[in-house]
Amino acid sequence: MNNIVAIVGRPNVGKSTFFNRLIQRREAIVDSVSGVTRDRNYGKSEWNGKEFSVIDTGGYIKGSDDIFEGEIRRQVELAIDEADVIIFVVDVEDGITPMDDEVAKLLRKVTKPVLLAVNKVDNAMRVDDAIEFYNLGLGEYYTIAGMSGSGTGELLDALTELLPEPEEVEEEEALPRFAVVGRPNAGKSSFINALIGEDRYIVTDIAGTTRDAIDTKYNRFGFEFNLVDTAGIRRKAKVKEDLEFYSVMRSVRAIEHSDICILMIDATRGFEGQDQSIFWLAEKNRKGVVILVNKWDLIEKDTMSTRDYEKRIREELQPFNDVPILFVSALTKQRLLKALETAVQVFENRKQRVATSKLNELMLPIIENNPPPALKGKYIKIKYCMQLPTPTPQFVFFCNLPQYVKEPYRRFIENKLRENYDFSGVPIDIYFRQK
Ligand code: GDP
Ligand code: GDP
Repeated sequence: MNNIVAIVGRPNVGKSTFFNRLIQRREAIVDSVSGVTRDRNYGKSEWNGKEFSVIDTGGYIKGSDDIFEGEIRRQVELAIDEADVIIFVVDVEDGITPMDDEVAKLLRKVTKPVLLAVNKVDNAMRVDDAIEFYNLGLGEYYTIAGMSGSGTGELLDALTELLPEPEEVEEEEALPRFAVVGRPNAGKSSFINALIGEDRYIVTDIAGTTRDAIDTKYNRFGFEFNLVDTAGIRRKAKVKEDLEFYSVMRSVRAIEHSDICILMIDATRGFEGQDQSIFWLAEKNRKGVVILVNKWDLIEKDTMSTRDYEKRIREELQPFNDVPILFVSALTKQRLLKALETAVQVFENRKQRVATSKLNELMLPIIENNPPPALKGKYIKIKYCMQLPTPTPQFVFFCNLPQYVKEPYRRFIENKLRENYDFSGVPIDIYFRQK
């Protein structure tokens, strides 16, 4: 399942160093188009055969000493709401600071497991210094050095002990699970209310309401589906979370729990950084995506055509831009049925399996006419291909020198697949392997 681990602590204790160690630097994908590193605060990790997502809740409040207590509180609240396990990092060099005390106070009230990591324990002498952290009242602690990795193994052993056993390969879910995501005020609750005709998404401010993802089954307009509801989604309606980081991280659980993300953007604001981050979270998790440009009723149609608008969004989505984009209004209920229909279609696209014989019939001639460019005088021969029996589309191409196949050729193959099969809204993985 989707286990979420959150790292909390005041600035400069070494959270991001530890985070990077967990997700391994190679994961830090720099988006070649926009030039921004997009997974500074979120990544996937695995230990003892258990997979989990890691959120560095230090997020955007890095480094400053004049950090407000309110920010730390928000950071911890985010962790409490969204995580299954919380790792609280403190710094042995500084000892217990008043802010550590504040965080500990919040965490002592939590029923979720909290692991206390005393960081920067670079040598044996500092092991003794760590003893004072018992005073935080959180029990046992782990001494680590995020920089060298020392001690992190024991901490991760303890962490994975707390996570449930991995489930057997997930049964094919009969009904699509949709998560409606987007920045605050994009119109998510309005859309959901228009769709299911209830006001159940208007919720009261109850701290600690159930935080796990809940699926609610619906049958609307002839479509059956589950809507994913999480604390993160519910919360957004009431708390004004202006910081991009918080609202993006509040979608993590819903995205991970869904098959298809219905990403709502506000037409009057365009496709901005926050939308991009949420889109990227969905793509990284290999979820299907439909983009709804909402509040289209507010746009002057002579100044802005859907075609121009769509073109601009597609540029932002590069390289994964084979995604349905619909112009809707939750207010006037314009094209809501179409939106639902499209989401169901993307679900079907994501499930489709291409027969091996058909795939080879199609792809081998294409490859023959456009072979991968030779490298260092060596020719690459692709002999055979197949789709793997995985929940999301993955294709493997068997060849003699897989390491010589470069990104542009992988992209070429992906485009050919997309031209010939409907994978609209669905991320595809393509591997080259030695036969
Ligand atoms: P964050 O603000 O909590 O994310 O902290 P950073 O990860 O940015 O680290 C703050 C500083 O502590 C940086 O200068 C790191 O190099 C340093 N640091 C992190 N881990 C260790 C460690 O294990 N030992 C020592 N000596 N320094 C560390
Ligand atoms: P959420 O935070 O994403 O759940 O957004 P809400 O559904 O609460 O909507 C935010 C605001 O935008 C509310 O004032 C809605 O009435 C308004 N709104 C939502 N959808 C539309 C739409 O399609 N057109 C217009 N004009 N306003 C909308």
